[in-house]
Amino acid sequence: MKENLKAFLKFLRLYHPLQSFYRQAILFLQNNYYKLTFLKYKGRGYICNFCGASYEKFVPEYPSKNDAAAINKYRVIAGYGENVHCPNCMSKNRDRLLLAVMQNFLQIEKKRILHFSPEKHLYNFLKDKAKVTTVDIIPGFYKNIDSAISYADATALRFPDNSFDVIIANHILEHIPEDIKAMTEMQRVLKEDGVAILQVPYSTILQTTIEEPSINDPARQQQLFGQKDHVRIYAFDDYIQRLTSAGFSVKILPAESFGTYKQYAIQEGEHLILGYKLKKENQDS
Ligand SMILES: [Zn+2]
Repeated sequence: MKENLKAFLKFLRLYHPLQSFYRQAILFLQNNYYKLTFLKYKGRGYICNFCGASYEKFVPEYPSKNDAAAINKYRVIAGYGENVHCPNCMSKNRDRLLLAVMQNFLQIEKKRILHFSPEKHLYNFLKDKAKVTTVDIIPGFYKNIDSAISYADATALRFPDNSFDVIIANHILEHIPEDIKAMTEMQRVLKEDGVAILQVPYSTILQTTIEEPSINDPARQQQLFGQKDHVRIYAFDDYIQRLTSAGFSVKILPAESFGTYKQYAIQEGEHLILGYKLKKENQDS
C-alpha cells in the first residue's frame, strides 16, 4: 500500500516536493525546539559563521543504530559528533567549514559556481555574491531552496567544457556508483584554474575503499556503508588517487591547519579536499 502511494505520488511528480516539504517542516520544528532548549547555553564558546549566534555548545548528532556499526568500525569522518547543528539556524558543521574556507581562502565573488544538491545555508550565502547554478539528480527535493534548480546526472553533465570557476560537491560522490566518471565530468566542466570542493565521508583506517556500486538495498547500505543511500566508504588515499586519475590536481588542507576555524564547531579531523584544474601549459611542464 505504502509503495503504491509512493509510486502514485511519483507519477504525479509530487513525491519529492512532499518529502522535501516534510523535511523542511521537521527542520523548522526542530529549530524552534533547539532555540528554546539551548537558550541556557547562549554565550561564549562556539560561534556560527552563518548567523553569528554563539553558544557554549551546539546540537549534537550521532548516527542511528543501523548506521553506527560501519561508521564506528571504519572510523569514518562523517559529520557526526558533539557540536553539529547551530541551535539558532541549524547550519551543519560541514556547511560551516565550507563557509569559513570560502570566506578566507577562495575567491567566490561574481564567480560562476556549480552547486550540487545545494545546502540551504551555503546557497543563501552564495546566491547574491556569485552566479550559482544548482543541480541534483532529484531536483524536486531542493525546489524550496532554489526554485531554479535543474536535473543533472553527475556522470553526464550537460554543460560545456570549462564552464565554472568553482564546483561545490559536498558529500556527493559517495552516493554515485560511477564516481570516477562523475569526477571526470566535474573536471571537464571546471574552468582552467578553477577549483572544486570535493568533501566526502572517508575512513581514517581503511587502506582500500569498500564499495558495491550496483547495490540497491537501503538496509544493507546502512550496514555496510553507514547510510542508506551510500554505495561505498572511501579509504582516504584511494579517494585522492581517484580524483587524480580523473584529472584533478588535488590539494589537501589538513584539519590541523583549521585551528582558527575551531570556533565554528567544525568536524574534528576533517581534511578539506580541493581539486584544481591546472592550465594546460602547467600540466605539460
Ligand atoms: Zn547559526
